Amino acid sequence: MGNKIVKIKKGDLVKVVLGKDKGREGKVEAVYKKKNAVLVPTLNLYKRHLKGGQGQKSGIYEVPRPINVSKIMLICPNCKKITRVGFKIEKKEKFRVCRKCNKRI
Ligand SMILES: [Zn+2]
Repeated sequence: MGNKIVKIKKGDLVKVVLGKDKGREGKVEAVYKKKNAVLVPTLNLYKRHLKGGQGQKSGIYEVPRPINVSKIMLICPNCKKITRVGFKIEKKEKFRVCRKCNKRI
């Protein structure tokens, strides 16, 4: 079967297209392949009450939760549009392309 190439990678700029953060953008910090989700530190924030200790104050903190990839789309670094990710194979190398401008991403 081989390894499935991931559509979204760490460092990608993404835009939320569904859910409470719809329209917001952020940079992917981590990818959870098995869960089909990504972590963006500025998105999908939930308030959590944390107890203090070890130099940390207690209080309410906003912590990001992973977002399912179905709720986000990639922002192409070339054309700056939100796009689906396509794939191309050239010289046995597989890479991602923007479906809007067809450039490698
Ligand atoms: Zn593009």
